[in-house]
Amino acid sequence: MDYLPFTRPSIDEETIAGVAEVLRSGWITSGPCARQLEQELSQYFGGRPVRVMSSATGALEVALALAGVQAGDEVITTPLSWVATANVILRAGARPVFVDVDALTRNIDLERIESAITARTRALLPVDMAGLPVDRDRLYDIAGRHGLRVIEDAAQSMGASWRGKRIGSFGDLAAISFHANKNITTAEGGCLVLNNAAETDLCTRLRLQGVVRLPDGGQEVEVAGGKHNLTDVAARIGLGQLKHLEAFTARRRVLAQRYFERFDTDTGCELPLAEYANCNWHMFQVLLPLARLRIDRGGFIEAMHQRGIGVGVHYPAMHLFGLYRKLGYNPGDFPQAERIGSTTVTLPLFPAMVDADVERVCTAVAEVIRENNK
Ligand SMILES: *Cc1c(COP(=O)(O)O)cnc(C)c1O
Repeated sequence: MDYLPFTRPSIDEETIAGVAEVLRSGWITSGPCARQLEQELSQYFGGRPVRVMSSATGALEVALALAGVQAGDEVITTPLSWVATANVILRAGARPVFVDVDALTRNIDLERIESAITARTRALLPVDMAGLPVDRDRLYDIAGRHGLRVIEDAAQSMGASWRGKRIGSFGDLAAISFHANKNITTAEGGCLVLNNAAETDLCTRLRLQGVVRLPDGGQEVEVAGGKHNLTDVAARIGLGQLKHLEAFTARRRVLAQRYFERFDTDTGCELPLAEYANCNWHMFQVLLPLARLRIDRGGFIEAMHQRGIGVGVHYPAMHLFGLYRKLGYNPGDFPQAERIGSTTVTLPLFPAMVDADVERVCTAVAEVIRENNK
């Protein structure tokens, strides 16, 4: 049987031909495709300004600068995310202030945010884990009452929504990723959704060395921008992907539903929240009952691998990394994030999977757990 990876992009032949065309055109870096992708994304996000970038990490770095986050500031975020989320805060010279996650949503616990706000807090940086949106009503209520900017790490949220509105189509700044594993991809890439023309102008400059081209053919530089532009080769992939976004999300929802129908709950695994109105099912993550097993998570992953099934880990709690321990964080600080981070596994879920693949994964999980019960 073919190896089933935990994720795989679906790139159609039209897109592959389009990329070949870009490669033959003589203009392969940022150009017409990047501009077109920006326009189509802006349309998708209800007309808000969008800038495409070479990664969501870059988009988050620019967003922090736009929000005025600087040395000595604090930014409140979740300990349970890809480490980019906290790294960008450190790189801005600010302090990541972690707030534990909610056991059910696995997102930042909104009940606990207010007690973490201090005079130095500048912004909230929530993550929609697995594409399950953080409650936007409560999030923006808290931000509004405390005068805080919100930088949505919506890296995983493409195709997700809140009360019928697309994530990114409302709110403050939103950074979205088009990494190979995300719901639509440009291989590497991302975008930032912005609020107004002035912010967009500064974003454009921060994206590429701060350079402004003058009408007389000269240039001016007033801010030290970075190097975050998206190539046309990548943007052409994105144009081909965006057409399929709705179908991809619909297929992910069907597969997730199938997991809930077929998953053997006697295994003792903890399933994600079954949420179909808003979630884009970027990942299907279960928590392993490791206390009951003779194997650790690595042993489980290896046993699944031997059955031809790829399993991912997204993510260990960030505050336990050496870099963050040095800031004074310790084991026990965020019990929910630690429990989830140490037992979570990501099972295969991507649009090209067939229903039988879900059966195969569920059977394999049940077998591996049964064979390794204490
Ligand atoms: C993927 C991801 C990022 C980083 O996106 P890149 O495009 O790889 O830079 C940041 N935060 C979260 C939550 C992610 O899943």
